[in-house]
This record gives sequence, structure tokens and C-alpha cells, in this order.
Amino acid sequence: MVDPAPAITALPELVDVIDGDQLAPEVAQDTWLCDPNSGAPFQRQRATGDEQIERALAAAAAAYARGDWADLSTELRAAWLERIADELEARQPELAVVEALTTGVVLSQASLVTAVCALTFRAAASMLRASPAPLALDGKHGPVEVWRRGWGPAALIVPWNAPAALAAHKIASALAAGCPVILKPSEWAAHSCDLLAAAVVATGLPRGVFQLVHGDGAVGARLVADPRIRAVSFTGGLAGGRAVARACAEGLKPLQLELGGKNPLIVLEDADLDLAALGVVSGLTTLNGQWCRALGRLLVHADCHDALLERVAARLAQLRIGHSCDAASAMGPLIHAGHHRVVSEAVRRLEAHGGTARSTSPLPDLAGHFFAPALITGCDPCDTLEEIFGPVAAVHRFSGDAEALALANQSPYGLAGYIFSADEARARAVARQIRAGDVKINGVSLIGLHPLAPRAAWGLSGLGEEGVAATFEFFRGTRVVGRAA
Ligand code: NAD
Repeated sequence: MVDPAPAITALPELVDVIDGDQLAPEVAQDTWLCDPNSGAPFQRQRATGDEQIERALAAAAAAYARGDWADLSTELRAAWLERIADELEARQPELAVVEALTTGVVLSQASLVTAVCALTFRAAASMLRASPAPLALDGKHGPVEVWRRGWGPAALIVPWNAPAALAAHKIASALAAGCPVILKPSEWAAHSCDLLAAAVVATGLPRGVFQLVHGDGAVGARLVADPRIRAVSFTGGLAGGRAVARACAEGLKPLQLELGGKNPLIVLEDADLDLAALGVVSGLTTLNGQWCRALGRLLVHADCHDALLERVAARLAQLRIGHSCDAASAMGPLIHAGHHRVVSEAVRRLEAHGGTARSTSPLPDLAGHFFAPALITGCDPCDTLEEIFGPVAAVHRFSGDAEALALANQSPYGLAGYIFSADEARARAVARQIRAGDVKINGVSLIGLHPLAPRAAWGLSGLGEEGVAATFEFFRGTRVVGRAA
């Protein structure tokens, strides 16, 4: 049981963590962070100055060269990760409130997502303990050792929709692998990463092993391009992902990319329509629709199209949209005014292409960036292939499984898929053919199908896999040592 969440009315100033020092990011930007619930300004965005970024890069390289983290025994490193987990557990209620306040995600979901932070450090510790000792092959001139070692300093870049959990997964995996890390959260939601950093710092890690810098894509780009950074794990949008991929190509750096999605949800004609309607609403409203695995395209068999949309409309009419820190809210505001504009423009574009927006959810009497979830019918499927990253999905009808699959696989992305059917064997057969990293049958949820299952990305959704084992291995390279003669 965790304590009830503390009330937070203002945000603390951001703090960089650089070579063991904690200091305010020097650069005050022209842009402001605002409360997504009211639109009222919280504080100016701030960024780490060039000199401090240089210090961070040098400190990470020095920490790796000293080996006081990478060469620590696996048991000591695992125990350290567990101490971080303990610190995070103590801070979880505060983490949830800060995340709800800065991202607009409702407290019930922010609590669920931030609770993952401690678990992810425990999972990394278990993974480390279970990882096999270096292999010793029987060589002609004695043992040939096969080691797996952290690549070196790693840049970890995260977006704004669930920042603490995404950052925790990257930090825990990289530290487990022996890499010093520099974390750069999104300029739009860095405060929960600052709390996460406070938990890591409280355990007294050696200087330069964990560092935190702030700023926008330019700061991220500087880290990624620096030759002292030896591996990059990036979660974000396609444009940023492509830029990072180009920069990593120059240095031939290992790169893990977790990008966006345009996730299909297929409803076959034999589906339980109440269950499917529940899934559609979850897909549209989880994390306020600002979720990489959110519903992007609703594909419905013609025989149940109208009946399903009626059920969805009825559910959305009951949806309680409200302040993100109100425990009774089921959906909160979009993160900031600029993103509200982007989502609104996407709807207008679809309407200009012949679409009709259907939304039945009442909006609260608050001045924030609230947006009623919308289904758009009547568009040509060729016009509904881009990620919107908001509570908006296109609806298309089909009349057979092959047509459903063709529509599902029409998107260049391939992150997640969903299928609803009363016939599990048929649903599994269709699901196996959807080009996506994971496909859920008869449900939509933030929780993965299995804690140890990898999360893969196909097409424009990214490069490589993530997961407890996959991300740990991503941060390690192989080194073979033995006598040649
Ligand atoms: P974004 O790409 O704008 O920013 C993500 C992070 O990258 C931020 O910290 C940003 O400052 C940084 N960044 C931007 N350009 C960069 C560059 N050229 N070099 C280095 N760093 C750069 O994304 P966002 O708007 O913060 O997040 C939304 C996107 O993230 C959506 O597309 C969503 O689908 C995706 N996302 C994916 C997953 C996943 O697991 N696949 C999870 C969450 C979010």
C-alpha cells in the first residue's frame, strides 16, 4: 500500500545533475511550461548550458574509464539498483502527482505508470543476477573468454507522455549493463525525471555514473552526436527518431529507437460489442490518447459497424473528463496549447478530406487544454495513415478478414494492434498476420501481455526491441579475450 498522494500546487525549479553536482539549468528559454488543466504558467522552460553539457560528457567518459561502476561485481551493482528501487518506492506518490500535473494524465493512470519505476529497477537487478558469468571456451592456448560489457556512456532521451517510467526503464537497463548514463527528458515534462534523478542520486552513485541534463531537441542532438556517447536509447516521434538515427549512423553507434504508431483495432463481426466498445474507449483515452500504443484506426466489420459506434458514443458520453489530479477524472487535458492545436488541426484536415468527427464527451468548465475524444468516419483510408498522438481515431469498415488485415497493415508504422472476436482461434490467426510488435486479443490496456515479453517495433515505429532482457542486452557489447599463440 502506498500513502495517499500529497497535494502539489507549484512545481519546483529543475535541477541538473552533472559530475556529482546539482545545479540549476542556466539557460532560461522564451517558452513557458503551463498547467495543462488551467493554461496558467508554471515557470519558464530551462536548458542546460553548453559548458555544463561538456562537463557531463567528460564526466561520463571519465566514469567509464575509471571502471568504478562498470567493473563493480554484478552482485554489488544489482544491490545498488535495488537501493534505487527502494528510494523510488518512497517517492512514488509524489512522482504520480508531479506526472499528473505536468503531463495532464489522470492521477489513477499516472499512479499506475509511475509505480513501474521501482519495479523496473528490481527487474534489472534480477536480470543482472541471472545473467551468465563470462563464457570460457576451451581454446588451443588456454581459455577463450567471452565477455559482455557495457558499451560506454549512453545518452537516454525520453518524450513527455510517460516520462518517469520510460526514463526508469532506460536508466535501470543501462546501469545494469555497466554504462554511465546521461538522461535528457522532454522539455515539456521534465519534473518527474528530476524526482527520479533525486532517487538515484540519494544512493550515492560514483560521480558521472548518472547525470541529468535539460533542454529541447538541440540538447539531445548535441549528446547523440558526441563521440564520447557510445550508445543511444531514444523514445519519441518519427522526426526526432530519424534525426537521431542519422547522427548515430555517422558514429555507427548502437541505437534503440522507440517511435510512434498508428495502431489498428479490428472488430470482427462475431465480437462482443460491449467489450469492443470498452476497448475502443480505452484505446482513445488512455494517457489522454497521448500514448504510442493508442488507437489510431478502428476497423469494423460492416455488419456491426453502426451498432459498435452507437455503443462507443454512449460510453464516451459518460466519460468524466476533468482535472488531472482529481481522482474522479477518467481523462485529463492534452499536455500543452501547441499540442492541442496540432490535434485540432489534424481533425480539421480529416474533415477537409470528407471525414465526419463524432464526439459525445462533455468537456469540463476549466480553461486548460481539454479535448473531447473523437472518431472520424468517412475518410479514405489513404488519408488516415499519420500518427496524431491524441484522442482521435479514424474508422473504416471492412467485409472480410483479408480486407481487415490489408487495412491494418496499410500503415507504415507497426507498434501495436488489437483484435476483438468471440472466436479466439480466428482472432489469433488474424493477429499473427498484423505487422506490429504486439497484438492484444479482446482487450486494450497499458499493461503488457507479459512482464518478460519484448516490446518490438516494426516499420516506422522504431528499431530493435525493448524489454527487461532486450534493453539490458542492447547496452552491452561482446569482447573475446584469449591467447593467440
Ligand atoms: P519528440 O520526438 O518531439 O521528443 C522526444 C525527445 O527527443 C524529447 O526529449 C526531445 O527533446 C528529444 N529530441 C527531439 N528532437 C531531437 C533530436 N534531433 N535529437 C535528439 N533529441 C531530440 O517526441 P514527443 O513529442 O516528446 O513524444 C511523442 C512521440 O513519442 C510520439 O510519436 C509517440 O508515439 C512517441 N512515443 C513512443 C513510445 C514507444 O515506446 N514507442 C513511447 C512513448 C512515446
